[in-house]
Amino acid sequence: MSEKPIVIEAIINGKKIKTEKQEPRENPAHPSEIVGYAPVNTREETIQAIDAAYDAFPSWAQTPVKDRVLRMRKAIQKIKDNIPDLSKLLSREHGKALYDAEGEFAVSLMWMEFACDNVEEVLKDEIQEHDGGKTIIARDAIGVVSAITPWNYPISLSTIKIAPALLTGNTMVLKPSPLAPLTVSKVAELIADEFPPGVLNLVHGEADVGVELTSNEKVSKIAFTGGTNTAKHIMKAASDTIKHMTLELGGNDAALVLEDIDVNDERAMRRMVISNFLTAGQICMIAKRIYVHRAIYDQFVEKYIEAANKWIRVGDPFDKNTTIGPVNNKKQMDYVQSLVDDAASKGAKVVKLGTVLIDEQTFKEGYYMQPTLVLGADYDSPIVVEEQFGPTVPILPFDNDEHALDLANGSIYGLTSSVWGEEEHCLKIARRVQAGTTMINTAAVQGLDVRFPFGGVKQSGMGREYGKEGLLTYTETHVINNPKMKELPYIPE
Ligand code: NAD
Repeated sequence: MSEKPIVIEAIINGKKIKTEKQEPRENPAHPSEIVGYAPVNTREETIQAIDAAYDAFPSWAQTPVKDRVLRMRKAIQKIKDNIPDLSKLLSREHGKALYDAEGEFAVSLMWMEFACDNVEEVLKDEIQEHDGGKTIIARDAIGVVSAITPWNYPISLSTIKIAPALLTGNTMVLKPSPLAPLTVSKVAELIADEFPPGVLNLVHGEADVGVELTSNEKVSKIAFTGGTNTAKHIMKAASDTIKHMTLELGGNDAALVLEDIDVNDERAMRRMVISNFLTAGQICMIAKRIYVHRAIYDQFVEKYIEAANKWIRVGDPFDKNTTIGPVNNKKQMDYVQSLVDDAASKGAKVVKLGTVLIDEQTFKEGYYMQPTLVLGADYDSPIVVEEQFGPTVPILPFDNDEHALDLANGSIYGLTSSVWGEEEHCLKIARRVQAGTTMINTAAVQGLDVRFPFGGVKQSGMGREYGKEGLLTYTETHVINNPKMKELPYIPE
Protein backbone atom coordinates (compact mmCIF):
# COMPACT_ATOMS: atom_id res chain seq x y z
CA MET A 1 0.00 0.00 0.00
CA SER A 2 2.39 2.61 -1.30
CA GLU A 3 1.34 6.20 -0.58
CA LYS A 4 2.88 9.62 -1.19
CA PRO A 5 5.63 10.24 1.40
CA ILE A 6 4.71 12.77 4.07
CA VAL A 7 7.07 15.55 5.14
CA ILE A 8 7.43 16.45 8.80
CA GLU A 9 8.62 19.80 10.12
CA ALA A 10 10.07 20.85 13.46
CA ILE A 11 7.88 22.96 15.78
CA ILE A 12 9.61 25.84 17.52
CA ASN A 13 7.68 28.45 19.48
CA GLY A 14 4.40 27.44 17.85
CA LYS A 15 5.77 27.70 14.32
CA LYS A 16 6.61 24.93 11.89
CA ILE A 17 10.21 25.19 10.78
CA LYS A 18 11.49 23.95 7.43
CA THR A 19 14.94 22.40 7.72
CA GLU A 20 17.70 22.25 5.19
CA LYS A 21 18.34 18.56 5.76
CA GLN A 22 15.78 15.76 5.95
CA GLU A 23 16.07 12.05 6.60
CA PRO A 24 13.88 9.49 4.82
CA ARG A 25 11.99 6.89 6.87
CA GLU A 26 11.49 3.57 5.12
CA ASN A 27 8.74 1.02 5.58
CA PRO A 28 10.34 -2.02 7.29
CA ALA A 29 7.89 -4.33 5.49
CA HIS A 30 8.95 -2.91 2.09
CA PRO A 31 12.20 -0.99 2.64
CA SER A 32 12.20 0.44 -0.89
CA GLU A 33 9.08 2.43 0.04
CA ILE A 34 9.71 5.79 1.73
CA VAL A 35 6.90 6.54 4.19
CA GLY A 36 8.03 10.08 4.86
CA TYR A 37 10.81 12.51 5.67
CA ALA A 38 11.74 13.87 9.08
CA PRO A 39 13.88 16.96 9.65
CA VAL A 40 17.46 16.80 10.78
CA ASN A 41 17.65 19.83 13.01
CA THR A 42 20.84 21.71 13.68
CA ARG A 43 22.25 22.50 17.08
CA GLU A 44 21.25 26.16 16.58
CA GLU A 45 17.64 25.17 15.93
CA THR A 46 17.72 23.00 19.04
CA ILE A 47 18.90 26.00 21.06
CA GLN A 48 16.04 28.06 19.60
CA ALA A 49 13.57 25.37 20.72
CA ILE A 50 15.05 25.33 24.23
CA ASP A 51 14.93 29.16 24.37
CA ALA A 52 11.27 29.10 23.31
CA ALA A 53 10.43 26.58 26.04
CA TYR A 54 12.41 28.62 28.58
CA ASP A 55 10.60 31.86 27.69
CA ALA A 56 7.19 30.17 27.76
CA PHE A 57 7.78 28.58 31.18
CA PRO A 58 7.05 31.43 33.66
CA SER A 59 3.59 32.16 32.32
CA TRP A 60 2.73 28.49 31.67
CA ALA A 61 3.71 27.53 35.21
CA GLN A 62 1.27 30.17 36.50
CA THR A 63 -1.59 29.03 34.26
CA PRO A 64 -4.35 27.48 36.39
CA VAL A 65 -4.27 23.71 36.33
CA LYS A 66 -7.92 23.57 35.21
CA ASP A 67 -6.96 25.46 32.05
CA ARG A 68 -4.04 23.11 31.40
CA VAL A 69 -6.34 20.11 31.77
CA LEU A 70 -8.92 21.63 29.43
CA ARG A 71 -6.29 22.10 26.73
CA MET A 72 -4.96 18.56 27.17
CA ARG A 73 -8.47 17.11 26.92
CA LYS A 74 -8.97 18.95 23.62
CA ALA A 75 -5.71 17.47 22.34
CA ILE A 76 -6.83 14.00 23.46
CA GLN A 77 -10.06 14.39 21.50
CA LYS A 78 -8.15 15.43 18.37
CA ILE A 79 -5.89 12.38 18.67
CA LYS A 80 -8.96 10.15 19.12
CA ASP A 81 -10.56 11.63 16.00
CA ASN A 82 -7.45 10.75 14.00
CA ILE A 83 -6.67 7.27 15.34
CA PRO A 84 -7.42 5.30 12.15
CA ASP A 85 -5.02 7.37 10.01
CA LEU A 86 -2.41 7.73 12.74
CA SER A 87 -2.37 3.98 13.45
CA LYS A 88 -1.88 3.18 9.77
CA LEU A 89 1.00 5.65 9.54
CA LEU A 90 2.58 4.19 12.67
CA SER A 91 2.27 0.68 11.34
CA ARG A 92 3.88 1.68 8.01
CA GLU A 93 6.84 3.52 9.48
CA HIS A 94 7.41 1.13 12.38
CA GLY A 95 6.57 -2.31 11.05
CA LYS A 96 4.26 -3.26 13.93
CA ALA A 97 0.96 -4.93 13.03
CA LEU A 98 -1.99 -2.57 12.69
CA TYR A 99 -3.79 -3.95 15.78
CA ASP A 100 -0.58 -3.37 17.73
CA ALA A 101 -0.37 0.25 16.52
CA GLU A 102 -4.01 0.78 17.53
CA GLY A 103 -3.22 -0.78 20.91
CA GLU A 104 -0.37 1.68 21.38
CA PHE A 105 -2.79 4.57 20.84
CA ALA A 106 -5.30 3.02 23.25
CA VAL A 107 -2.69 2.80 26.05
CA SER A 108 -1.39 6.31 25.31
CA LEU A 109 -4.87 7.82 25.56
CA MET A 110 -5.65 5.85 28.71
CA TRP A 111 -2.59 7.41 30.31
CA MET A 112 -3.26 10.93 29.06
CA GLU A 113 -6.77 10.71 30.51
CA PHE A 114 -5.47 9.34 33.81
CA ALA A 115 -3.02 12.26 33.97
CA CYS A 116 -5.83 14.77 33.32
CA ASP A 117 -8.08 13.12 35.92
CA ASN A 118 -5.43 13.10 38.66
CA VAL A 119 -3.23 16.15 38.20
CA GLU A 120 -5.33 18.50 40.33
CA GLU A 121 -5.20 16.16 43.32
CA VAL A 122 -1.47 15.52 42.88
CA LEU A 123 -0.69 19.24 42.78
CA LYS A 124 -2.84 20.11 45.77
CA ASP A 125 -0.93 21.78 48.62
CA GLU A 126 -0.40 19.61 51.68
CA ILE A 127 -1.07 21.89 54.63
CA GLN A 128 0.12 21.02 58.12
CA GLU A 129 -0.88 23.09 61.14
CA HIS A 130 1.32 22.47 64.17
CA ASP A 131 1.94 24.18 67.49
CA GLY A 132 0.13 27.23 66.16
CA GLY A 133 2.39 27.43 63.10
CA LYS A 134 1.63 26.41 59.55
CA THR A 135 3.60 24.63 56.83
CA ILE A 136 2.57 24.31 53.21
CA ILE A 137 4.15 21.58 51.12
CA ALA A 138 3.65 22.77 47.57
CA ARG A 139 4.46 21.12 44.25
CA ASP A 140 6.10 23.49 41.79
CA ALA A 141 6.81 22.89 38.12
CA ILE A 142 10.50 22.24 37.38
CA GLY A 143 11.11 24.19 34.16
CA VAL A 144 12.15 23.12 30.67
CA VAL A 145 12.05 19.37 30.11
CA SER A 146 14.00 17.65 27.34
CA ALA A 147 12.11 14.51 26.33
CA ILE A 148 14.11 12.00 24.29
CA THR A 149 12.31 8.88 23.10
CA PRO A 150 13.08 5.59 21.30
CA TRP A 151 11.56 3.95 18.24
CA ASN A 152 9.79 0.91 19.66
CA TYR A 153 6.75 2.62 21.24
CA PRO A 154 7.12 6.17 19.94
CA ILE A 155 3.60 7.35 20.79
CA SER A 156 3.18 5.97 24.28
CA LEU A 157 6.76 6.76 25.32
CA SER A 158 6.32 10.36 24.19
CA THR A 159 2.83 10.95 25.60
CA ILE A 160 3.94 9.33 28.86
CA LYS A 161 6.20 12.42 29.16
CA ILE A 162 4.26 15.17 27.38
CA ALA A 163 1.01 14.80 29.35
CA PRO A 164 2.40 14.93 32.91
CA ALA A 165 5.07 17.53 32.10
CA LEU A 166 2.65 20.02 30.55
CA LEU A 167 -0.17 19.35 33.01
CA THR A 168 2.10 20.08 35.96
CA GLY A 169 3.21 23.39 34.42
CA ASN A 170 6.48 22.55 32.68
CA THR A 171 7.42 23.28 29.09
CA MET A 172 9.10 20.79 26.80
CA VAL A 173 11.31 20.09 23.83
CA LEU A 174 10.59 16.63 22.43
CA LYS A 175 13.07 14.70 20.30
CA PRO A 176 11.77 11.40 18.89
CA SER A 177 13.92 8.66 17.40
CA PRO A 178 14.83 8.93 13.70
CA LEU A 179 13.70 5.29 13.36
CA ALA A 180 10.00 6.11 13.90
CA PRO A 181 9.74 9.91 13.72
CA LEU A 182 6.61 10.54 11.65
CA THR A 183 3.47 9.56 13.60
CA VAL A 184 4.77 10.91 16.89
CA SER A 185 5.40 14.25 15.16
CA LYS A 186 1.80 14.32 13.94
CA VAL A 187 0.66 13.61 17.50
CA ALA A 188 2.98 16.29 18.92
CA GLU A 189 1.59 18.75 16.37
CA LEU A 190 -1.99 18.01 17.45
CA ILE A 191 -1.03 18.57 21.07
CA ALA A 192 1.17 21.65 20.52
CA ASP A 193 -1.67 23.39 18.63
CA GLU A 194 -3.78 23.38 21.79
CA PHE A 195 -1.12 25.04 23.95
CA PRO A 196 0.50 28.50 23.94
CA PRO A 197 3.55 28.88 21.64
CA GLY A 198 6.72 27.45 23.17
CA VAL A 199 5.00 25.10 25.64
CA LEU A 200 5.62 22.04 23.46
CA ASN A 201 8.42 22.18 20.89
CA LEU A 202 9.56 19.40 18.57
CA VAL A 203 13.01 18.82 17.08
CA HIS A 204 14.54 15.87 15.28
CA GLY A 205 18.04 14.56 14.84
CA GLU A 206 20.67 12.37 16.38
CA ALA A 207 23.49 12.73 18.87
CA ASP A 208 24.38 16.45 18.43
CA VAL A 209 20.77 17.49 18.95
CA GLY A 210 20.66 15.06 21.88
CA VAL A 211 23.83 16.53 23.40
CA GLU A 212 22.38 20.06 23.30
CA LEU A 213 19.13 18.88 24.85
CA THR A 214 20.95 17.20 27.69
CA SER A 215 23.64 19.81 28.43
CA ASN A 216 22.00 23.20 27.81
CA GLU A 217 21.77 25.10 31.09
CA LYS A 218 18.20 26.25 30.43
CA VAL A 219 17.02 22.63 30.56
CA SER A 220 16.06 21.58 34.09
CA LYS A 221 14.91 18.01 33.56
CA ILE A 222 15.63 15.16 31.18
CA ALA A 223 12.98 12.51 30.57
CA PHE A 224 14.72 9.80 28.57
CA THR A 225 13.64 6.39 27.36
CA GLY A 226 16.18 4.36 25.44
CA GLY A 227 19.28 2.23 25.77
CA THR A 228 21.40 2.02 28.91
CA ASN A 229 24.56 3.01 27.03
CA THR A 230 22.93 6.16 25.64
CA ALA A 231 21.80 7.01 29.18
CA LYS A 232 25.44 6.91 30.34
CA HIS A 233 26.30 9.63 27.79
CA ILE A 234 23.27 11.62 28.86
CA MET A 235 24.17 11.48 32.55
CA LYS A 236 27.65 12.78 31.74
CA ALA A 237 26.29 15.56 29.51
CA ALA A 238 23.82 16.62 32.22
CA SER A 239 26.24 16.51 35.12
CA ASP A 240 27.65 20.04 34.68
CA THR A 241 24.25 21.60 35.31
CA ILE A 242 22.79 18.99 37.74
CA LYS A 243 19.52 18.22 35.99
CA HIS A 244 16.56 16.21 37.23
CA MET A 245 16.30 12.91 35.42
CA THR A 246 13.87 10.16 34.70
CA LEU A 247 15.64 7.33 32.89
CA GLU A 248 13.68 4.39 31.46
CA LEU A 249 16.30 2.08 30.07
CA GLY A 250 17.01 -1.38 28.76
CA GLY A 251 15.94 -4.58 30.40
CA ASN A 252 16.58 -8.30 30.27
CA ASP A 253 13.39 -9.42 31.94
CA ALA A 254 13.33 -12.91 33.41
CA ALA A 255 10.27 -15.16 33.41
CA LEU A 256 10.45 -17.76 36.21
CA VAL A 257 8.31 -20.82 35.57
CA LEU A 258 7.82 -22.68 38.84
CA GLU A 259 7.33 -26.41 39.26
CA ASP A 260 3.64 -25.97 40.08
CA ILE A 261 2.59 -24.21 36.85
CA ASP A 262 -0.23 -25.92 34.98
CA VAL A 263 1.36 -26.42 31.56
CA ASN A 264 -1.99 -27.60 30.22
CA ASP A 265 -3.50 -24.16 30.87
CA GLU A 266 -3.71 -22.98 27.26
CA ARG A 267 -4.53 -19.37 28.15
CA ALA A 268 -1.46 -19.12 30.40
CA MET A 269 0.74 -20.52 27.63
CA ARG A 270 -0.79 -18.03 25.18
CA ARG A 271 -0.05 -15.15 27.56
CA MET A 272 3.52 -16.38 27.93
CA VAL A 273 4.09 -16.63 24.18
CA ILE A 274 2.54 -13.24 23.51
CA SER A 275 4.62 -11.72 26.26
CA ASN A 276 7.73 -12.92 24.43
CA PHE A 277 6.89 -11.93 20.87
CA LEU A 278 4.49 -8.97 20.78
CA THR A 279 5.83 -6.19 18.52
CA ALA A 280 8.35 -8.77 17.28
CA GLY A 281 9.95 -8.79 20.73
CA GLN A 282 10.87 -5.10 20.55
CA ILE A 283 9.45 -4.08 23.91
CA CYS A 284 11.51 -3.09 26.92
CA MET A 285 9.15 -4.88 29.32
CA ILE A 286 8.99 -8.24 27.60
CA ALA A 287 10.24 -11.59 28.94
CA LYS A 288 13.69 -11.94 27.39
CA ARG A 289 14.90 -15.10 29.13
CA ILE A 290 12.75 -17.91 30.50
CA TYR A 291 13.94 -20.10 33.37
CA VAL A 292 11.92 -23.27 33.97
CA HIS A 293 12.07 -25.77 36.84
CA ARG A 294 14.04 -28.78 35.63
CA ALA A 295 11.28 -31.23 36.69
CA ILE A 296 8.87 -29.80 34.11
CA TYR A 297 11.35 -28.44 31.57
CA ASP A 298 10.71 -30.89 28.70
CA GLN A 299 6.96 -30.80 29.13
CA PHE A 300 6.97 -27.00 29.28
CA VAL A 301 9.08 -26.63 26.14
CA GLU A 302 6.75 -28.95 24.24
CA LYS A 303 3.66 -26.95 25.31
CA TYR A 304 5.40 -23.65 24.64
CA ILE A 305 6.21 -24.66 21.06
CA GLU A 306 2.62 -25.86 20.59
CA ALA A 307 1.23 -22.52 21.82
CA ALA A 308 3.70 -20.47 19.80
CA ASN A 309 2.86 -22.39 16.63
CA LYS A 310 -0.79 -21.63 17.25
CA TRP A 311 -0.51 -17.94 18.13
CA ILE A 312 2.42 -16.57 16.18
CA ARG A 313 1.71 -15.56 12.60
CA VAL A 314 4.36 -13.45 10.88
CA GLY A 315 2.99 -11.39 8.06
CA ASP A 316 2.14 -8.10 6.47
CA PRO A 317 1.29 -5.58 9.23
CA PHE A 318 -2.01 -4.79 7.50
CA ASP A 319 -3.15 -8.41 7.25
CA LYS A 320 -5.76 -9.05 9.97
CA ASN A 321 -4.33 -12.53 10.62
CA THR A 322 -0.85 -11.20 11.32
CA THR A 323 0.28 -11.15 14.94
CA ILE A 324 3.87 -10.07 14.22
CA GLY A 325 5.21 -7.76 11.53
CA PRO A 326 8.84 -7.14 10.57
CA VAL A 327 11.58 -5.86 12.85
CA ASN A 328 11.87 -2.06 12.79
CA ASN A 329 15.31 -1.75 11.16
CA LYS A 330 18.08 -3.75 9.55
CA LYS A 331 20.66 -3.07 12.25
CA GLN A 332 18.35 -4.50 14.90
CA MET A 333 17.49 -7.51 12.72
CA ASP A 334 21.17 -8.27 12.11
CA TYR A 335 21.96 -7.89 15.83
CA VAL A 336 19.21 -10.31 16.88
CA GLN A 337 20.31 -12.80 14.21
CA SER A 338 23.92 -12.53 15.40
CA LEU A 339 22.87 -13.51 18.94
CA VAL A 340 20.96 -16.55 17.63
CA ASP A 341 23.86 -17.56 15.34
CA ASP A 342 26.35 -17.21 18.19
CA ALA A 343 24.27 -19.51 20.43
CA ALA A 344 23.82 -22.03 17.60
CA SER A 345 27.57 -22.05 16.85
CA LYS A 346 28.18 -23.02 20.48
CA GLY A 347 25.78 -25.97 20.31
CA ALA A 348 22.38 -24.49 21.25
CA LYS A 349 19.32 -25.81 19.46
CA VAL A 350 17.30 -23.20 17.55
CA VAL A 351 13.60 -23.96 17.01
CA LYS A 352 11.58 -21.88 14.53
CA LEU A 353 8.17 -20.87 15.83
CA GLY A 354 4.84 -19.96 14.29
CA THR A 355 3.72 -19.62 10.71
CA VAL A 356 4.75 -17.21 7.98
CA LEU A 357 1.84 -15.71 6.04
CA ILE A 358 3.81 -13.98 3.26
CA ASP A 359 5.75 -15.29 0.26
CA GLU A 360 9.46 -15.86 0.44
CA GLN A 361 10.40 -12.84 -1.65
CA THR A 362 8.35 -10.38 0.45
CA PHE A 363 9.80 -11.97 3.59
CA LYS A 364 13.35 -11.53 2.32
CA GLU A 365 12.76 -8.02 1.03
CA GLY A 366 11.41 -6.74 4.39
CA TYR A 367 13.10 -6.93 7.77
CA TYR A 368 11.15 -10.04 8.66
CA MET A 369 12.41 -12.65 11.10
CA GLN A 370 10.69 -15.87 12.00
CA PRO A 371 10.60 -16.07 15.81
CA THR A 372 12.90 -18.61 17.40
CA LEU A 373 13.37 -20.45 20.64
CA VAL A 374 16.93 -21.09 21.78
CA LEU A 375 17.41 -24.22 23.88
CA GLY A 376 20.56 -25.33 25.64
CA ALA A 377 22.43 -22.01 25.48
CA ASP A 378 25.07 -21.35 28.13
CA TYR A 379 23.77 -19.39 31.13
CA ASP A 380 26.31 -16.65 30.44
CA SER A 381 26.00 -16.54 26.65
CA PRO A 382 25.13 -13.23 24.95
CA ILE A 383 21.60 -14.44 24.01
CA VAL A 384 20.93 -14.87 27.73
CA VAL A 385 22.75 -11.93 29.34
CA GLU A 386 22.18 -9.25 26.70
CA GLU A 387 18.95 -7.52 25.74
CA GLN A 388 18.04 -9.09 22.41
CA PHE A 389 15.11 -6.74 21.68
CA GLY A 390 13.77 -8.97 18.92
CA PRO A 391 11.83 -12.15 18.17
CA THR A 392 13.94 -14.77 19.88
CA VAL A 393 14.01 -16.11 23.42
CA PRO A 394 16.18 -18.61 25.32
CA ILE A 395 14.67 -21.17 27.72
CA LEU A 396 16.96 -22.59 30.42
CA PRO A 397 16.35 -24.94 33.37
CA PHE A 398 16.76 -24.18 37.07
CA ASP A 399 17.02 -26.60 39.99
CA ASN A 400 15.13 -24.90 42.84
CA ASP A 401 13.67 -21.54 43.88
CA GLU A 402 16.99 -20.14 45.15
CA HIS A 403 18.67 -21.06 41.87
CA ALA A 404 15.83 -19.38 39.94
CA LEU A 405 16.21 -16.17 41.97
CA ASP A 406 20.00 -16.18 41.54
CA LEU A 407 19.56 -16.44 37.78
CA ALA A 408 16.86 -13.76 37.59
CA ASN A 409 18.77 -11.33 39.83
CA GLY A 410 22.19 -12.03 38.34
CA SER A 411 21.80 -9.27 35.77
CA ILE A 412 22.79 -5.64 35.48
CA TYR A 413 19.14 -4.98 34.56
CA GLY A 414 15.92 -4.99 36.56
CA LEU A 415 13.02 -3.59 34.58
CA THR A 416 10.07 -6.01 34.73
CA SER A 417 9.87 -9.73 35.48
CA SER A 418 7.24 -12.43 35.79
CA VAL A 419 6.63 -15.50 37.91
CA TRP A 420 4.40 -18.33 36.70
CA GLY A 421 2.83 -21.06 38.87
CA GLU A 422 0.62 -21.48 41.93
CA GLU A 423 -0.34 -17.98 43.12
CA GLU A 424 0.93 -18.01 46.72
CA HIS A 425 4.21 -19.56 45.65
CA CYS A 426 4.58 -16.95 42.90
CA LEU A 427 3.92 -14.10 45.34
CA LYS A 428 6.61 -15.39 47.68
CA ILE A 429 9.16 -15.54 44.89
CA ALA A 430 8.02 -12.23 43.34
CA ARG A 431 8.92 -10.29 46.51
CA ARG A 432 12.56 -11.32 46.07
CA VAL A 433 12.99 -10.49 42.40
CA GLN A 434 15.00 -7.31 41.78
CA ALA A 435 12.79 -5.41 39.36
CA GLY A 436 10.54 -2.37 39.08
CA THR A 437 7.55 -4.58 38.31
CA THR A 438 6.97 -8.31 38.84
CA MET A 439 3.88 -9.85 37.30
CA ILE A 440 2.14 -13.03 38.37
CA ASN A 441 1.03 -15.46 35.67
CA THR A 442 1.18 -12.80 33.03
CA ALA A 443 3.88 -10.56 31.62
CA ALA A 444 4.76 -7.53 29.56
CA VAL A 445 2.03 -5.18 28.35
CA GLN A 446 -0.66 -7.66 29.42
CA GLY A 447 0.16 -6.78 33.00
CA LEU A 448 0.73 -3.06 32.41
CA ASP A 449 -1.63 -0.66 34.15
CA VAL A 450 -1.22 3.08 33.68
CA ARG A 451 -2.55 3.70 37.22
CA PHE A 452 0.61 2.24 38.75
CA PRO A 453 4.21 3.46 38.62
CA PHE A 454 6.50 1.90 36.04
CA GLY A 455 10.29 1.93 35.88
CA GLY A 456 13.44 -0.03 36.48
CA VAL A 457 16.01 -0.80 39.16
CA LYS A 458 19.78 -1.23 38.70
CA GLN A 459 20.87 -0.25 35.17
CA SER A 460 17.29 -0.34 33.89
CA GLY A 461 16.86 3.20 35.05
CA MET A 462 15.78 5.60 37.74
CA GLY A 463 12.51 7.29 38.53
CA ARG A 464 9.02 6.16 37.57
CA GLU A 465 6.51 6.95 34.87
CA TYR A 466 2.75 6.24 34.95
CA GLY A 467 0.63 6.39 38.10
CA LYS A 468 0.62 9.41 40.39
CA GLU A 469 4.41 9.13 40.66
CA GLY A 470 4.51 9.73 36.92
CA LEU A 471 2.99 13.16 37.54
CA LEU A 472 4.94 13.96 40.70
CA THR A 473 8.21 13.33 38.90
CA TYR A 474 7.66 16.58 36.98
CA THR A 475 7.42 18.63 40.18
CA GLU A 476 9.73 20.10 42.80
CA THR A 477 8.72 19.91 46.44
CA HIS A 478 8.52 23.44 47.82
CA VAL A 479 8.07 23.92 51.55
CA ILE A 480 6.57 27.24 52.66
CA ASN A 481 7.06 27.39 56.37
CA ASN A 482 5.44 29.85 58.76
CA PRO A 483 6.37 28.56 62.23
CA LYS A 484 4.83 30.07 65.33
CA MET A 485 8.20 30.43 66.97
CA LYS A 486 10.25 32.63 64.63
CA GLU A 487 13.53 32.53 66.50
CA LEU A 488 15.55 29.73 67.99
CA PRO A 489 15.43 29.92 71.80
CA TYR A 490 18.97 28.59 72.28
CA ILE A 491 20.85 31.19 70.19
CA PRO A 492 22.27 33.82 72.56
CA GLU A 493 21.12 37.44 72.00
P1 NAD B 1 18.68 4.60 21.90
O1 NAD B 1 19.25 4.76 23.24
O2 NAD B 1 19.55 4.21 20.77
O3 NAD B 1 17.94 5.94 21.43
C1 NAD B 1 16.96 6.57 22.22
C2 NAD B 1 16.91 8.04 21.88
O4 NAD B 1 18.13 8.67 22.28
C3 NAD B 1 16.76 8.34 20.39
O5 NAD B 1 15.87 9.41 20.23
C4 NAD B 1 18.17 8.73 19.99
O6 NAD B 1 18.21 9.55 18.84
C5 NAD B 1 18.63 9.47 21.22
N1 NAD B 1 20.09 9.62 21.39
C6 NAD B 1 21.08 8.87 20.86
N2 NAD B 1 22.28 9.31 21.29
C7 NAD B 1 22.04 10.35 22.13
C8 NAD B 1 22.88 11.20 22.92
N3 NAD B 1 24.20 11.08 22.93
N4 NAD B 1 22.29 12.15 23.68
C9 NAD B 1 20.95 12.28 23.71
N5 NAD B 1 20.11 11.50 22.97
C10 NAD B 1 20.66 10.54 22.20
O7 NAD B 1 17.48 3.54 22.06
P2 NAD B 1 16.58 2.88 20.93
O8 NAD B 1 17.39 1.92 20.13
O9 NAD B 1 15.83 3.95 20.21
O10 NAD B 1 15.53 2.09 21.84
C11 NAD B 1 15.73 0.80 22.31
C12 NAD B 1 16.14 0.81 23.77
O11 NAD B 1 15.19 1.52 24.53
C13 NAD B 1 16.17 -0.59 24.36
O12 NAD B 1 17.31 -0.73 25.18
C14 NAD B 1 14.91 -0.65 25.20
O13 NAD B 1 14.94 -1.57 26.26
C15 NAD B 1 14.83 0.75 25.69
N6 NAD B 1 13.47 1.05 26.11
C16 NAD B 1 13.21 1.19 27.46
C17 NAD B 1 11.91 1.42 27.90
C18 NAD B 1 11.59 1.59 29.36
O14 NAD B 1 10.50 2.07 29.68
N7 NAD B 1 12.46 1.22 30.27
C19 NAD B 1 10.88 1.51 26.96
C20 NAD B 1 11.18 1.34 25.61
C21 NAD B 1 12.48 1.13 25.19
